[in-house]
Amino acid sequence: MKILVTGGAGFVGSHLCEALVDLGHDVVCLDNFLTGSLSNIAHLRGREKFSLVEGDVREPLKPAAYDFIYHLASPASPADYAAMPVETLLINSMGCKHALDLAVDVNARVFISSTSEVYGDPDVTPQAEDYWGRVNPVGQRSCYDEGKRFAEALAAAYHRRYSLNLVLGRLFNTFGPRMRVNDGRAVPNFINQALAGEPITVFGDGGQTRSFCYIDDMVRAFIMILDKNVTGMHIVNLGNDDEMTVLAAAQAIKELCRSSSEIDFHPLPADDPVQRRPDLTLAREGLGYEPRVDTATGLRLVIEWFAAQENGRRAASEKV
Ligand code: UDP
Repeated sequence: MKILVTGGAGFVGSHLCEALVDLGHDVVCLDNFLTGSLSNIAHLRGREKFSLVEGDVREPLKPAAYDFIYHLASPASPADYAAMPVETLLINSMGCKHALDLAVDVNARVFISSTSEVYGDPDVTPQAEDYWGRVNPVGQRSCYDEGKRFAEALAAAYHRRYSLNLVLGRLFNTFGPRMRVNDGRAVPNFINQALAGEPITVFGDGGQTRSFCYIDDMVRAFIMILDKNVTGMHIVNLGNDDEMTVLAAAQAIKELCRSSSEIDFHPLPADDPVQRRPDLTLAREGLGYEPRVDTATGLRLVIEWFAAQENGRRAASEKV
């Protein structure tokens, strides 16, 4: 199949491009490198079935004979979207419109990357797809939460108006190699702090919960959606439902890194969700999806990756 991945040079996008190329698909990766990077896809550039287009989804997208479009382009770390709130809203409105227009134009099926943030700070747990959410429309996170809610509403409207076949995938916290060192999210922050022996910055009392999914499981779910050849419109939570407190995640990372770092408590950012755990019933029943990598194993793998990156950086600076 010929497949477009917007945001293909990002953390999730680059793993997806790699899996699709390995499966023999023709992959076009579109990215403007706002938060993605060339180094994420450097290993794919020599592959015959992979091509890179530098471009911005806020501009109309060039038609090509795509069978499927994965629309992933957007800042996704709270630190990134807090620094780029206007960009985040426009990418998730204009950018999503352009991805949907392209899908209609070339008659492609489309996957729109959404988020657990559409549930806001949820007052039910676990969060199922029929929960409407509890979102502050003007808060610190609203550029992302409302941006994604608009993207979902727009996709639903395109489905109704143009009978577009689409999947809205709501991604819960995902981690793995190629997360940026300075991306600001809990897992890379904690690992880099623990490896450097610096204080581990836990926000609030660390009692808020998250459910962390290893990237390989997420990509497998993406491929299952492609293979399913769905018609109509479907909404599905994607992630791992093994819920833990942020403090427990910090302690686990500290232990796995054999670090002597202190745990340092900092104020909780505004509107930080108190609990988050996906109800994966639809993914299980509809796709046959089951997360395979438990959180501890995933953390071990990503710690090894971050340690290797750090060793590489050190070796390079010693050479200079
Ligand atoms: N967090 C933390 N310390 C950090 C970064 C994040 O305690 O250095 C907390 C954050 O407040 C949130 C959770 O960890 O409660 C997950 O944050 P992340 O930025 O990874 O993603 P979110 O789930 O908030 O989108």
